[in-house]
Amino acid sequence: MREKEAKTVLTPQNGMNIYRGCTVGCMCCDPRSKCYRFEGEFTDVEVKINGPALLEKSLKSKRRHCMIGVGSMSDPYQPLEKELGLMRKALAHIHYYGFGVAIETRSDLVLRDLDYLKSINEKAKCVVIMPINTAEEALSAILEPSAASVKARVEALLALREAGITTIVSMAPFLPFINDTRENVEAVLGLVEKVRPYGVLCKFIGCNLRDGSREYFYQKLDENFPGMRERYEAAFGKSYDLVSENNKELMERIRTFLTERQILSDQERLRTYLKGFEDKLAGVQIEMPLGMLEAQAGG
Ligand code: SF4
Repeated sequence: MREKEAKTVLTPQNGMNIYRGCTVGCMCCDPRSKCYRFEGEFTDVEVKINGPALLEKSLKSKRRHCMIGVGSMSDPYQPLEKELGLMRKALAHIHYYGFGVAIETRSDLVLRDLDYLKSINEKAKCVVIMPINTAEEALSAILEPSAASVKARVEALLALREAGITTIVSMAPFLPFINDTRENVEAVLGLVEKVRPYGVLCKFIGCNLRDGSREYFYQKLDENFPGMRERYEAAFGKSYDLVSENNKELMERIRTFLTERQILSDQERLRTYLKGFEDKLAGVQIEMPLGMLEAQAGG
C-alpha cells in the first residue's frame, strides 16, 4: 500500500475511486488491463489519503446532484478499507451534501456502513451491486480469493434488502469451460431467487480479457486449471469477448427466470436506473446532525 495526495477523486462521469489497485485477487479483472495505465503491482494499492476531502470539495461545487458510482476500478470494501475507513468518510460527505450512490462490492464489509447507506437512501438513492458467479464456495475461493464467501454475500444482500436498500446482483464473469454450465447458472439463479434483487446485471455468458488482464488470467489458469490455457488460446486467441458456447441457451434461461419473478433483466434499463438521481425530500426541510457527520467525515 502506498499513500498519495491525489489531485482528483471523481471522474467526469462521477465515478469515485479512493483506492487504485485492489487485493481481492479476482482471476478475471478488467482494471488490471494496460489501457488503464496503472503503474506498479496491481496489489500495491494506491490510497488517495486526501480522497474524502477532495470528494467534499467536488460535491460542494457541483451545480446539480447526481449519483456517485463507486467500485468500477477497485473494490471500495477491499480488506484495507476495514482499517482505513476512507469509504465511510466519503459516504458521510455523500450523505451530507444530498447525493446518491451506487456501490459495487464483493465484500460484506459494506454492512458496516449501513447507517450511512440508509440515510443516503432516505434523501436520495442508494444501490448496492454485488457480483455472484457461482454458488460453490470452493470455486469462488479460486475465482475471487479475497472476496467474501458466497454465503456472506447472500446474507449481506438480504440484510441490505431488509434495510430498504436497492440491491442488484451482477452475474459475471462466467469463465468458459469453468463456471459457464447450466448447473452453475441454475445454482446462481437459486441464490438470486433467495435475495430477490431489484435487477440482475448479466450482459452475456462469458468474460472479457485484454492486454494486461489476459496475462494475469492465464497465469492463474496455469496455477489452478492445468491445461486450460491451451484450450482458451485455441478457442479465443486474443479476443476481447470470450463468449461461452452455452451463451444463447443460458441467457434465454436467465431472462425467462427473471421475467417470471419480475426481477429487472433489461441491461439498458438497469444502466439508466443506476445513473438516475432521485430527490426523495424535494421541498422538505431537514435537520442533519452536522457535528457528528463532520467529525466522522474527518478530512
Ligand atoms: S474486485 Fe474488481 S478490481 Fe478487485 S480484483 Fe476483483 S475484479 Fe479486480
